[in-house]
Amino acid sequence: MTQRKLVLDTSAVIAGFVPGLAKAEQITIPGVIEEARDLCSKLELETAVLAGKVKVVEPSKDSLATIRAKVKHTGDIVSQTDIKLLALALELKDDGVELVTDDYAIQNLASLFDIPYRSVAMPGIKEVLRWEAVCSACGRRYPPSVAMCSACGSKLSRKPRR
Ligand SMILES: [Zn+2]
Repeated sequence: MTQRKLVLDTSAVIAGFVPGLAKAEQITIPGVIEEARDLCSKLELETAVLAGKVKVVEPSKDSLATIRAKVKHTGDIVSQTDIKLLALALELKDDGVELVTDDYAIQNLASLFDIPYRSVAMPGIKEVLRWEAVCSACGRRYPPSVAMCSACGSKLSRKPRR
């Protein structure tokens, strides 16, 4: 089994995730380090950064724009730090990354981009969202496993059912 890279959210550190103990390569953004400064867990995070166990990276403008566009669309309430974190995870998705977060809004958005995530303290999303696939061209709705619109041939996107 290949070890995934982990992208760390502040909520993961608050929940007791100890970066120094994890074997996987870990990555986060400067905003998370900033947020963690006020916490008692900041020392663990800063030590892990200094020891080279956690890399601090900024996401690209392209991936930021992709996430921002989606957030605008879904209306999820997330901070700039959350958006940057999701953008970074999106960029690293093909490298087999896993987002470590206990924040439901971030988990929701991660699943919209098929970014794998895990939570530390809480057992995932409590109220499991029900998904459906919606045709972006004609608006027909399908079960979430369907990838293409049988009426017009357009690609479907997954959306939470309302
Ligand atoms: Zn269609």
